[in-house]
Amino acid sequence: MSISIKPNTTGLIFAMREEQEGLQNFISNKKIHHIAKREFIQGEFCGHPIVMVLAGIGKVAAASTTNLLIHHFGVTQLILSGVAGAADPSLKVGDIVIANALLQHDMNASPLFPRFEIPLTGKSRFLVDQNLQKALQNATSQFIQTMPTHFSASQIEEFQLQTVKTRTGLIASGDQFIHDSHVLSELKQALPDLLAVEMEGAAIAQVCNEQNLPFAILRTISDGADETADVDFLSFVKNVAAPYSLEILKNYFENRKIQID
Ligand code: SAH
Repeated sequence: MSISIKPNTTGLIFAMREEQEGLQNFISNKKIHHIAKREFIQGEFCGHPIVMVLAGIGKVAAASTTNLLIHHFGVTQLILSGVAGAADPSLKVGDIVIANALLQHDMNASPLFPRFEIPLTGKSRFLVDQNLQKALQNATSQFIQTMPTHFSASQIEEFQLQTVKTRTGLIASGDQFIHDSHVLSELKQALPDLLAVEMEGAAIAQVCNEQNLPFAILRTISDGADETADVDFLSFVKNVAAPYSLEILKNYFENRKIQID
């Protein structure tokens, strides 16, 4: 099937199947395209053109997917929604981090270039589009205010979601599931403002920077990036992170509709 490019299309990237499943049911006028071993779902979400895709895990998967979204679907902005490990003591499981900058924590070409700097770009941090970041912050605050309508009292109790908060700041990505407090504290020493660690965001950031495309990264804290990081990871993603994503993205697109109308 040939792809017809819709103006103002948002690319929605997920890393794990469990994260994208909830959203799938809310897409109307669906068209499915298979490219480069991925399934792209083109359609409308809350009246807005979107393309949704499961990127897979890690920086290469994320970068490759970002390029496919740009070149095959002509997306004009990109949002990644997923989970991350906390790198700041103020954050606990269930909190939400919105990136204002992304860095690749496993990039190290020293002594040729400073640690973390992407060689030949002069950059270690890629900045997030301010408008998109603010719009996601609003959508997230709205969601937090209505939490009890989305989760039962027993879910709130089970996943300890009584006092969920949101923070904005630095997220670092690398091809590593961090589950070791020593690794985390070494990173935190090098990057004192680091809020969370994950495996895709900074790759998307680099590609979007090359293409001058607005992007934003939204992450629910799923673990403490320490020795307990793999405990009930999938249950958390399915029961907490996926509904978070759905509701926050709904708020985001509903608000955008008001701005456009
Ligand atoms: N057990 C899972 C592993 C997924 S990898 C599985 O088998 O499917 C972890 C995913 O969540 C990645 O997409 C990454 O972006 C994010 N993530 C969550 N916590 C992380 C951590 N502590 N370190 C790195 N990535 C993390």
